[in-house]
Amino acid sequence: LLEVQNLRKSFGPHEVLRGIDLAVMSGERVAIIGGSGSGKSTLLRCLNFMEVPTQGRIALDGRLLGRPGRDGSTVYPEGELCGVRRRVGMVFQQFNLFPHMTAVENVMEALVTVKGAPRRQARARAEAELGKVGLGDKHDAYPSRLSGGQQQRVAIARALAMDPEILLFDEPTSSLDPELVGEVLRVIRGLAEEGRTMLLVTHELGFAYHFATKVVFLADGRFYEVGTPDEVLKHPRGERTRTFLARHS
Ligand code: ATP
Ligand code: MG
Repeated sequence: LLEVQNLRKSFGPHEVLRGIDLAVMSGERVAIIGGSGSGKSTLLRCLNFMEVPTQGRIALDGRLLGRPGRDGSTVYPEGELCGVRRRVGMVFQQFNLFPHMTAVENVMEALVTVKGAPRRQARARAEAELGKVGLGDKHDAYPSRLSGGQQQRVAIARALAMDPEILLFDEPTSSLDPELVGEVLRVIRGLAEEGRTMLLVTHELGFAYHFATKVVFLADGRFYEVGTPDEVLKHPRGERTRTFLARHS
């Protein structure tokens, strides 16, 4: 479904991603772990083109994105990137809801503006998605009146409303109070049971173990270790993976 080859991303002189190779099959769930500043968010942002990669090839459904530019770099036409963002949904650590819109309006927004859905139809879909994440009674609440866990579930409903083929989660529970983590993880577990294709950056190693079909440990801009949850989380081979796990368990 998604194929990444030699993905690199620099910010000025600082090379954050130094050659990432990744293939994600339909229905796979990849957990991405790694230290702070190792480039986990940057990787997800490159995959839905919130950041444009400095180098590398990304293919969706076997179709290579972008076209070669004159200097050998890849040029990504904006129209194509909009298409990718529609197919690759993202949920952020900080929810990123519009504060001046109610829950249902937040979920409707992109349906109307990006997909051009009629408002009535968008509202019906948004209400259905809010119901699925357990917020059937919060349609008209503004984000400031919702708990962090509820806000994050609105953000998940918003991503789902776009019918993405791949969902990216960037530490979806790390800004939540401990007692609210469970309700968000429950929703994500439900999505796993539906067989959705997902990439999840997380520090919840226990959850990652049960959730993922594949775990990658990112260090120094590369995939330092890749394997099944059992291999990477229980029997890590690399020294740095072991050190990381010892610090996070
Ligand atoms: P964390 O666990 O703290 O969220 P992370 O693994 O998600 O960390 P990134 O946010 O991807 O790390 O950042 C990786 C590195 O890239 C950091 O050193 C960061 O300062 C740098 N970086 C990220 N975004 C930018 C940007 N827009 N401009 C310049 N540097 C950036
Ligand atoms: Mg991050």
